[in-house]
Amino acid sequence: MEAKEWKEKLLTNKKNGYDLMPAEEREAMDRYCQGYKAFLDAGKTERECVQEGIRLAEEKGFRPYVRGMELKSGDKVYLDNRGKMLMLAVIGQKSLAEGAQITAAHIDSPRLDLKPSPLYEESEMAYLKTHYYGGIRKYQWVTIPLELRGIVALKDGKTVKVAIGEGDEPKLVINDLLPHLGREQSKKTLAEGIGGEQLNLLVGTEPLAGEEKDRVKLAVMKLLYEKYGFTEDDFISAELEAVPATNASDIGLDRSMIGAYGHDDRVCGYAALKALLDLDEVPGKTSVCVLADKEEIGSVGVSGMLTAAFDTFMEDLCDSQNVPVRVCLEKSFCLSADVTAAFDPNFGDVYEKRNASFLNYGVGLCKYTGSGGKGGASDASAELVAYARRIFDENGVIWQMAELGKVDAGGGGTVACYMANRNIDTLDAGVPVLAMHAPFEVVAKLDCYMTYKGMMAVYKN
Ligand code: MN
Ligand code: MN
Repeated sequence: MEAKEWKEKLLTNKKNGYDLMPAEEREAMDRYCQGYKAFLDAGKTERECVQEGIRLAEEKGFRPYVRGMELKSGDKVYLDNRGKMLMLAVIGQKSLAEGAQITAAHIDSPRLDLKPSPLYEESEMAYLKTHYYGGIRKYQWVTIPLELRGIVALKDGKTVKVAIGEGDEPKLVINDLLPHLGREQSKKTLAEGIGGEQLNLLVGTEPLAGEEKDRVKLAVMKLLYEKYGFTEDDFISAELEAVPATNASDIGLDRSMIGAYGHDDRVCGYAALKALLDLDEVPGKTSVCVLADKEEIGSVGVSGMLTAAFDTFMEDLCDSQNVPVRVCLEKSFCLSADVTAAFDPNFGDVYEKRNASFLNYGVGLCKYTGSGGKGGASDASAELVAYARRIFDENGVIWQMAELGKVDAGGGGTVACYMANRNIDTLDAGVPVLAMHAPFEVVAKLDCYMTYKGMMAVYKN
């Protein structure tokens, strides 16, 4: 054989996804991405993602799961865990004793939560204090329009839904210092330039007529009371999140990318959900999709991936077939669907180019995540990675191997280790993202669509 043939036979040949994707898939990709953008605009908090997920699922015939209900092959059910985590299943042809095909993504994203006592007035300007949620770069959240979304739980048991800043509504903002007076601030590091206690949302300046103290604060509280019926004390039992007031949009003159808030990890969450909803026949094994909360702060709590709510859901499904849940889990496969860092030539020195993921090279498979020598990674087995390679290739999924940055540059984790701890064979895969955790993140449409196809391949195998 000539060297050229040896090369083709022996060496890796990475190709841009646009050189691999059949032309007829183009339309399906664009249609898929339209749906994804609509999902992002409807779901800017984990609660809203659950609501939108349920709406889409019910359109496709999914019913709320009720403990003890009879389940037969082809049945489609969902369980809403406290409004912040959604689990869905399509009962397969085979017994759960043969395991389930699971996808697990998260629908919480970094943001600014209001503090329990947020409202104050200073120099006749009213502000709301925030406590950031997840790993944000604080300097990125100033001087951008923000909106407030969430709920206020009242003492009488009622819940008020709050959405301020949609469409033509007024926005909120956190101000930064002008460069003219920023000499000292500019000497600080990026991490220190804006402090956590400076992330205060400007919410008003017009005082209420009268002689009282803090009349601007009072005027703001009056507006909130008139619109939503809650008082200052009710902030204590509220979950209000300041999120970027920007909708998803195409990026690039060629429209090849999507820019939005919350790609991490709604881009995988939507792929996992949509593939389940689009199953055109009853899968062999039962397909399960988990959209978890709290990943950005450690997957803890009743709605995070560590919650027993997942085990209970699986146990309930297994009970309906008289299968011990431990038998099901040890035979199950889980694709932990979470984003990875796309190579960014503007910051090339933190990536290791031979193992980095690239835009338009498809869904990124990660054998391990973690930091400081795979710390915190579940490190999938070689056999499991081989299985994923096979099912992706067999199903026309364009994929790439992905490692998040240089060995000593940093790192990050996903829900994979929590699924693997349950004795479920688990592998990470997800969409490469530019500017992850920023108020406006960028992904490639081709990678989004291939992640959807990858999830479909998981359910069908
Ligand atoms: Mn994530
Ligand atoms: Mn994240």
